[in-house]
Amino acid sequence: MRIVFIGPPGAGKGTQSTRLTRQLGIDYLSTGDMLRAACRDDTPLGRKAAEFLQSGRLVPDHLVHEIVRQRLAEPSAAKGFLLDGFPRTVPQAEEFDRWLAANGQKLDAAVSLSVSRDELLSRLALRGRQDDDRHVLEQRLVHFEELTRPLLDYYKCRNLMRVIDGHGTMDEVYARILDAVGVK
Ligand code: AMP
Repeated sequence: MRIVFIGPPGAGKGTQSTRLTRQLGIDYLSTGDMLRAACRDDTPLGRKAAEFLQSGRLVPDHLVHEIVRQRLAEPSAAKGFLLDGFPRTVPQAEEFDRWLAANGQKLDAAVSLSVSRDELLSRLALRGRQDDDRHVLEQRLVHFEELTRPLLDYYKCRNLMRVIDGHGTMDEVYARILDAVGVK
């Protein structure tokens, strides 16, 4: 199964999607994790991405595409994967579609977690990651609205979009996700 997970920061994407990948036995691929690891390891790509990560801006597409392409080429991704945090813009989704077509693969579902702005801000305040200061957070929410939200229509047009109510307990949200992707 191949799934993309879409949702604003704080929506619970990371928690829910790692749980789903464990249950489905597919690879979990988070572009945020990959980019942070590249920065930590001080790779050439990590050095270019660092300033964007720190300021909460989106890392330029060509860098993100490079890191995703490399990861998807690893043998473990052949059994299926869930992408958390990619695509984040329509051009990224178009690039991903080209990659899928070139590799004879298709996407099974795009899952979006829908959470109110107030709830997001209070969850993010509790999380306290380094790039989570208030200004950076606001930036990331603005980017989500402007750049990522159009993806919902992109995948709706392709009949792949599953919008999930992200309120409630972790188990309640997870049950909705399983239902939406057709897992019993
Ligand atoms: P995340 O862990 O998904 O919240 O991502 C953390 C940060 O990594 C974001 O604020 C961006 O700077 C960068 N990032 C992650 N995924 C992408 C992507 N698909 N496109 C551009 N930047 C990304």
